[in-house]
Amino acid sequence: PKQSEENLRSPICCIMGHVDTGKTKLLDCIRGTNVQEGEAGGITQQIGATYFPAENIRDRTKELKADAKLKVPGLLVIDTPGHESFTNLRSRGSGLCDIAILVVDIMHGLEPQTIESLNLLKMRNTEFIVALNKVDRLYGWKTCRNAPIVKAMKQQTKDVQNEFNMRLTQIITQFKEQGLNTELYYKNKEMGETYSIVPTSAISGEGIPDMLLLLVQWTQKTMVEKLTYSNEVQCTVLEVKVVEGHGTTIDVVLVNGVLHEGDQIVVCGMQGPIVTTIRALLTPHPMKELRVKGTYVHHKKIKAAMGIKITAQGLEHAIAGTGLYVVKSDDDLEDVKDAAMEDMKSVMNRIDKSGEGVCVQASTLGSLEALLEFLKSPAVNIPVSGISIGPVHKKDVMKASVMLEKRKEYGTILAFDVKVTPEARELAEELGVTIFTADIIYHLFDQFKAYIDNLKE
Ligand code: GDP
Ligand code: MG
Repeated sequence: PKQSEENLRSPICCIMGHVDTGKTKLLDCIRGTNVQEGEAGGITQQIGATYFPAENIRDRTKELKADAKLKVPGLLVIDTPGHESFTNLRSRGSGLCDIAILVVDIMHGLEPQTIESLNLLKMRNTEFIVALNKVDRLYGWKTCRNAPIVKAMKQQTKDVQNEFNMRLTQIITQFKEQGLNTELYYKNKEMGETYSIVPTSAISGEGIPDMLLLLVQWTQKTMVEKLTYSNEVQCTVLEVKVVEGHGTTIDVVLVNGVLHEGDQIVVCGMQGPIVTTIRALLTPHPMKELRVKGTYVHHKKIKAAMGIKITAQGLEHAIAGTGLYVVKSDDDLEDVKDAAMEDMKSVMNRIDKSGEGVCVQASTLGSLEALLEFLKSPAVNIPVSGISIGPVHKKDVMKASVMLEKRKEYGTILAFDVKVTPEARELAEELGVTIFTADIIYHLFDQFKAYIDNLKE
């Protein structure tokens, strides 16, 4: 065991919950404080992912006097803005996220997206902790900046403590209604059976040391096998982005292995596998220089786990949510290509064989899968004749217009969390193709249903 302990990679943690509960602010809080302390290069804000080196975690948690050694090199936290990224993580990244933080606003309790997130976590069997955020909003809260939560709680008046306990009890009850046992982390004697709650404030930092320590201790204690570093490259594309001066780039999470500048890679593309060579491996500058737009740190090689921006030729049609493969000297390129396209094939198989149905379009493979799954469910049952990933272009409208002659109502594009180019809008108007757009899957269905009902009248 000694050997493997020394060879752990950073756990990957995603932060989830209802909108406005403070997910992004919690990350800002951890990063921000370190900037104030002037820790140059201490924390690097990765693309979509923030890497917290062990030294920073040690520093942030020292007041807790944890005797525990930090065995992991750091913690890679992935912010999940909105639903899209998480759908992506959920569908494609089973190996991506080791633990999650479910953020709940102490003033609001469980909200619709909290429950949605909870169900995703249960489905995936993902471990998580609950950050009970915004404790500073309790009436009369006395700020104890960045203090461990027990220490902060002791400074509060009886009234504040009472309000806290009342709200906590209500929220524990709400969790129980969802079939989950939860308990304040420092009272939790059966971690694993009972989920831990860490009260936090993303504004004044109370409870943040506890949250960091809990994440690190829990992962390195219970996930040694999963976190044992492996040389086999395991890498997922999170986003495909055009960056000034770099062309189309991909933001990836490297879960295992090492990537080198010059590596030949294969990624899944809309028009087939993309074989290319890593031109640059980039991470943003350390916190201080983060605001200097468009400049990145170049690396010759990067070891997992890390969030990385990759520049290479031909990435325009890369699909977010799919795996990235490195071609090794003894690999057969065709095999690697097949492996890279496997993700896409399973989705393609879901298209209606009759050739009649709406066209659907989404931002990532993961969100497309989620949308297809939803449309196929018996209660919805909308056939799909074509799929695409990325913004709606003229060609997509052309494709959908073919359906107008067969069945008018299928001359429709359901666009989930993607933009529609002005030219595509114009053409759709001209040809009579209806485009529905929404960021929430159910809204697409509602719009489509209203449209069908209207046609029938
Ligand atoms: P997200 O949608 O979950 O990422 O939420 P944000 O991080 O964008 O925060 C939503 C709002 O809540 C912002 O106005 C934050 O300033 C505020 N907020 C977040 N965390 C806290 C907190 O701990 N205390 C207080 N008082 N406000 C907070
Ligand atoms: Mg946010």
